[in-house]
Amino acid sequence: MIDTSVFQDKRAAYFTLGCKLNFSETSTFGKMLSEMGVRTAAKGEPADICVINTCSVTDVADHKCRQAIHRLVRENPDAFVVVTGCYAQLEPEKVSKIAGVDLVLGSNEKANLIQFLSDAFINRSDTPSYKTVKTKDIKTFAPSCSRGNRTRFFLKVQDGCDYFCTYCTIPYARGFSRNPSIASLVAQAEEAVSEGGKEIVLTGVNIGDFGKTTNERFLDLVKALDGVEGVSRYRISSLEPDLLTDELIDYCAQSRAFMPHFHIPLQSGSDTVLRLMHRHYDRQLFADKIHRIKEVMPDAFIGVDVMVGCRGETPECFEETYTFLDSLDVTQLHVFPYSERPGTSALSIPYVVSDADKRERSQRLLALSDQKTHAFYQKYIGQEAEVLFEKATRGRAMHGFTRNYIRVELSPAMAREDYDNQLIQVRLGDFNHDKTALKVEWIK
Ligand code: SF4
Repeated sequence: MIDTSVFQDKRAAYFTLGCKLNFSETSTFGKMLSEMGVRTAAKGEPADICVINTCSVTDVADHKCRQAIHRLVRENPDAFVVVTGCYAQLEPEKVSKIAGVDLVLGSNEKANLIQFLSDAFINRSDTPSYKTVKTKDIKTFAPSCSRGNRTRFFLKVQDGCDYFCTYCTIPYARGFSRNPSIASLVAQAEEAVSEGGKEIVLTGVNIGDFGKTTNERFLDLVKALDGVEGVSRYRISSLEPDLLTDELIDYCAQSRAFMPHFHIPLQSGSDTVLRLMHRHYDRQLFADKIHRIKEVMPDAFIGVDVMVGCRGETPECFEETYTFLDSLDVTQLHVFPYSERPGTSALSIPYVVSDADKRERSQRLLALSDQKTHAFYQKYIGQEAEVLFEKATRGRAMHGFTRNYIRVELSPAMAREDYDNQLIQVRLGDFNHDKTALKVEWIK
């Protein structure tokens, strides 16, 4: 039983590091606490409760988590401080020893954050506690469908991963792949519509692996969500290439609301490196997927994750990656320098890339990414497009995205508050000043 009286008239501050999934989960924590009578502390107002949702994707992320905890403790000296998320799961003892931390909750416990929080709040002691279970025992699924302060909703359809790529700690931090039922996700999408949601992004760790828990298929989830009235747009945050089936690509091409927009992690364009990473595909399979998408959706925006400088990536392997990506009809590269993670099997690969080489490789790929994105945007100058606009600060330009994820800018003179969360037909003009968007020429 949760004692709601302990939360009455309390103020909470939230801080999130890491991926979209974390942001979505934090905003669900906020929603649950507000149902208990807790309001979000205004900027500069001291909080009674601090919730910090951490990430551990790199050593820089770990460092940022510690810094964020120190800062929140300093700014809210009397607050009850709860730390959860991937770093909390992987290093619970270390986190619980940071001065000011009261409670550390691992990945299995965060689904019951309110219960743990109310118990610990009532029996507040000077000794911080941590509650985590071993990776293999992480079984709970913390549902999450939230808007946060953005226009789009983020619907968590899956958690955990069974792939164990050699460089990655996510399976250790989040546990094995698991998912809720299609019926419960459809119900959450319908609720998002009732709250005014027009666009929903499907999030998860390894989304294409959806269905293991419930014996369902990801394609059937996509079909069921496509039928939810009121949702105009869906995007899939990321799909492993080996799980992006031709059937799914073909369905998206003729679907009502799934957008021509894909985000696919490649990581390396060298088969040698892909094998060292224990990825589940080779470069030929990846190229085939890109060709298939472009064949049935020539306007599709394709974002690709690439990791540079991982162990085993010799200069020749990197050149293979570069020429491979250069040859592919993709739109944007998300480039991540490899970071050594304790406990991962990548550490046994002897060939190590220097930081200077990692930087140089990142810069080359980022320059290639800019070229590709600009060439993609260029094709749409002068064309009409439907844009979903997002909230803007008064007096500033408004932004939004086309169906195929081109960022669009509406000048302050043309912006109107009631365009927020509206689908509007526009004509696309030239690039904006820093080439991060196309300007709106006129609104229909
Ligand atoms: S697919 Fe690989 S990189 Fe992605 S979460 Fe799973 S183990 Fe990590």
